[in-house]
Amino acid sequence: MDLAFTEEEEAFRTEAGAWLAAHVPGSPLPSLETAEGFAAHRAWEAELAAERWSVVNWPARYGGRETGLIGWLVFEEEYWAAGAPGRVGQNGISLLAPTLLDHGTEEQRARVLPPMATGEVVWAQAWSEPEAGSDLASLRSKAVRTDGGWRVSGQKTWSSRAAFADRAFGLFRSDPGAPKPHQGLTYLMFDLRAPGVTVRPIGRLDGKPAFAELFLDEVFVPDRDVIGEPGEGWRIAMSTAGNERGLMLRSPGRFLAAADRLRRLWRQQGSPPSAHDRVADALIGARAYQLFTYAAASRFLEGASLGPESSLNKVFWSEYDIALHETALDLLGDEGESADSDWAEGYVFSLAGPIYAGTNEIQRDIVAERLLGLPKGRR
Ligand SMILES: Cc1cc2nc3c(=O)[nH]c(=O)nc-3n(C[C@H](O)[C@H](O)[C@H](O)COP(=O)(O)OP(=O)(O)OC[C@H]3O[C@@H](n4cnc5c(N)ncnc54)[C@H](O)[C@@H]3O)c2cc1C
Repeated sequence: MDLAFTEEEEAFRTEAGAWLAAHVPGSPLPSLETAEGFAAHRAWEAELAAERWSVVNWPARYGGRETGLIGWLVFEEEYWAAGAPGRVGQNGISLLAPTLLDHGTEEQRARVLPPMATGEVVWAQAWSEPEAGSDLASLRSKAVRTDGGWRVSGQKTWSSRAAFADRAFGLFRSDPGAPKPHQGLTYLMFDLRAPGVTVRPIGRLDGKPAFAELFLDEVFVPDRDVIGEPGEGWRIAMSTAGNERGLMLRSPGRFLAAADRLRRLWRQQGSPPSAHDRVADALIGARAYQLFTYAAASRFLEGASLGPESSLNKVFWSEYDIALHETALDLLGDEGESADSDWAEGYVFSLAGPIYAGTNEIQRDIVAERLLGLPKGRR
């Protein structure tokens, strides 16, 4: 395996690093989970997009630079190392876009991707329902055929950033008579401000509306907003889920930067020997995850699909993130408990890692059954 970057990739790294050094805001933007912070992050997306840095691996015609997956990984390393803001467009960019690139029509790609790249249209993921989380296939929201499209009704929940987002993508039951729950589902896109949509924000423990519930009452969705064939939603959603767990949602660049920050914190605190091994583990873990992801990306570029291996990634990054933040809080002692510490906020969010993008119990089942060939667990 060749671990060296090409000259072109190295040149791209230099160019990206220089741009970021000149443009990353000098002080952190307000929290993404507030109206003010959302607007500030949207403006940052526009700034990135103006010079085609927001979606570097996309085709040029949609606003990208066609860097390929390795180029994207390189960009992510530079991005997080530069201390750049979290990405408000992430749900769209890392989940919906790959889905459209694989299963959408050219009309959908040309219409949806460019305003996603600029942050003009921010997307929310509307998959979970009150009775359909881990068992997503039991979802009940329905899509009923009508002239020129579908009438959609039901309830979605835990939709991150839907309080401020513009549009959403989700799965709906279009054939209630299908023999199995994951059959007869349709994947579609809808407007969060369409007639019949009620968005009710859900506050986090700190009160910020990081999620929303969506109530849908006979919302009209035109045919052009169905992704893939009606009834094929499950297959399409599983390719989205692979992206969420495997590559795009948590790139190694983020953890390399976090591990480096932890190393610096350890030094600032006088290099206490008691934390030495945990800091070393964080550095090794970030590097291991980087190499594992490069290997997965190389296989992907050679035509392999992401498959159940992405569940390994998901379990790894979510547990890694918690361990890294716990080490930081132990190093900080009482200071780490203060609500405005970045480490404390990061720690609280890391606790959600084993839940979102599919819980780790479910990922372990996937690994056991599909990678290790163990018998199916009792459900
Ligand atoms: C920070 C955050 C952001 C999120 N953002 C979004 C979003 O943007 N859009 C969206 O649609 N959803 C989102 N979610 C929802 C998320 O996908 C669900 O919370 C998750 O899939 C789990 O579903 P649930 O909450 O219904 O828990 P349940 O499915 O009820 O699970 C409860 C517990 O039981 C365990 N369990 C359930 N079934 C099994 C089984 N068969 N075997 C073993 N253990 C099992 C689970 O692992 C878990 O520990 C988000 C969640 C969080 C925490």
